[in-house]
Amino acid sequence: MKWIAAAMAILILISYPISSSGENEIQEMISKVNEEMLYYYDSTIQNMGPHPTGSQECEKVADFIYEELQSYGLQVENHYWEKKGYSGRNIVATLPGKDNKAVILSAHYDSVAVSPGADDDGSGVSCVLMAAKIMSDYSFTHTIKFVFFSGEEQGLYGSDRFVRDMYERNEIILADIQLDGVGHAVSREGGSKMRLSSSGSSAWIAGVVNEMAESYDEIGLNVKIYRDFAGSDHQSFINYGYEGVFFLEYEFNPHYHSSQDVIDYVNFTYMAKMCKLAIATAATLADMDVKTMVRVVEPERGAIYFGDRKILDTDDYNSVVIGKMMMKVEILTDDKINLVEFYMDGELRGVDATEPYEYRFGKVALFRHHITVLAEGESSNDMTEMDVYLFNLVPRYWLD
Ligand SMILES: [Zn+2]
Repeated sequence: MKWIAAAMAILILISYPISSSGENEIQEMISKVNEEMLYYYDSTIQNMGPHPTGSQECEKVADFIYEELQSYGLQVENHYWEKKGYSGRNIVATLPGKDNKAVILSAHYDSVAVSPGADDDGSGVSCVLMAAKIMSDYSFTHTIKFVFFSGEEQGLYGSDRFVRDMYERNEIILADIQLDGVGHAVSREGGSKMRLSSSGSSAWIAGVVNEMAESYDEIGLNVKIYRDFAGSDHQSFINYGYEGVFFLEYEFNPHYHSSQDVIDYVNFTYMAKMCKLAIATAATLADMDVKTMVRVVEPERGAIYFGDRKILDTDDYNSVVIGKMMMKVEILTDDKINLVEFYMDGELRGVDATEPYEYRFGKVALFRHHITVLAEGESSNDMTEMDVYLFNLVPRYWLD
């Protein structure tokens, strides 16, 4: 029996090629990060008062973000969303690349009802605005989107609708970097470390973050990786089969979700470090040579299947299959693919070496299972993950 650990070892051995041509540019970009500007953004946002989704104050914060982004010469648009009785808009600024593969830098601009939200998440918004202002003067291979979500505090509603729309349009997203609570540090230790949530198929992004922190002394942060910290908008990307990480301050902010989440307790020197790390990471990802990308096309997210047949589209990202699940994957690559492996709960179930790449999961299975698909090419590979609710009570040998 072959387990996923072996496959993971191969993945780690074949590291992603990072172009070194951008090094000077990255150094130049991060040295442009300006604490006064970060202070200006964050104080403007907190001075509008608590700005929960749906409030007038939230709209004012949105207008401020929109106008700032427009002044940097970026293409800016509102992405309107509705979910479970809430509605709002995400603000999306695009810096077009040579291709349509997207790298996303994101934060949420809504606060909880009692809080001016200087750290949660005025800090992330300030960093992403700063990044947009600086990076808009440069060009990259891939497209960069600077995205500001609302509805986060209700349950990632704005980002869920945003990612769902991109998923339905078959858009390619390389990675999301979400900044949420990146301005609090009081001790020397807290000021020199950051928490990065990353797991499974997003681990390669953490590798890039780590490499950036080590390559540029000016950043001055030690990256501490935490697994499966799902509480921010990067999770919406993961829910639809994309990959993402979440930047978070190292020390817990005691003013979190209170009326005391104000700039008096925000450390702008620390926020500048987080901003530099985010810019270096996004710039590197945006010029990265991505050889192979594997993604699941069936079962679709947000659908119920009876065997191979889709019987219903649902309003969330979960996939439900009654009977045997037929999984089909699509591989975007300029490499020669040797084989595709299909795992369930870490155990290898099937292999396919010829297109179309697919596997029918036949064993009895009930409730939630974790599927991992690994595509191994000659000089590159990629992995994708998905949770599926399976209700297969009929063993393979009854019907085959
Ligand atoms: Zn938050």
